[in-house]
Amino acid sequence: MKLLEDRIRKDGVVKEGNVLKVDSFLNHQMDVPFFYEMGKEFKRLFEGTPINKILTIEASGIGIAIIAGLHLNVPVVFAKKSQSSNISDQVYSTVIHSYTHNCDNNVVVSKQYLHADDHVLIIDDFLANGCALEGLIDLVHQANGTVEGIGIAVEKGFQEGGDRLRAKGYRVESLAIVDSMDAKTGEIVFRSSEA
Ligand code: 5GP
Repeated sequence: MKLLEDRIRKDGVVKEGNVLKVDSFLNHQMDVPFFYEMGKEFKRLFEGTPINKILTIEASGIGIAIIAGLHLNVPVVFAKKSQSSNISDQVYSTVIHSYTHNCDNNVVVSKQYLHADDHVLIIDDFLANGCALEGLIDLVHQANGTVEGIGIAVEKGFQEGGDRLRAKGYRVESLAIVDSMDAKTGEIVFRSSEA
């Protein structure tokens, strides 16, 4: 999505440790009309797929997921990070390693909101090593639901998550794929896209 690539070029900041900061429009301050365009693109990409629910993870996936839910006209569920390791039998739970904070989180979804007849689109802001998505996929599978696809705003294509998930057969659609980035020069190279 050229709009997103241009915005990352303009406002993205490359940090040491392969972290791309996009706080000014995506991860801290949110540019809502811009989110609206990203949601529209997810709708275009997944049009015709039988999606009845979106699943994301708190916190930074929620904004994009909501707008995608608006376009696709489906409810949005977010997996909650649980402080307690004492998980009840009312929830599906999994452990997700956080790339940006380098810690493990217990993540839960109430059994009330994920079911065997759910056809789920998983949405997140970033895809790096794929741990967040693997955890969300695990939650859908615990409910015996179906993962219809994965929608990502920014994939870091030089990390392994996207390739691994596609090799497993998941449909992963990323609005922008960063092939390389350099913290010293600030240069960001995208995989070519037409949209
Ligand atoms: P993964 O689990 O794929 O390794 O990492 C994905 C999660 O880590 C995303 O939910 C996102 O919040 C965070 N993340 C990973 N890499 C980046 C990055 O370069 N920039 C930002 N802002 N978040 C990232």
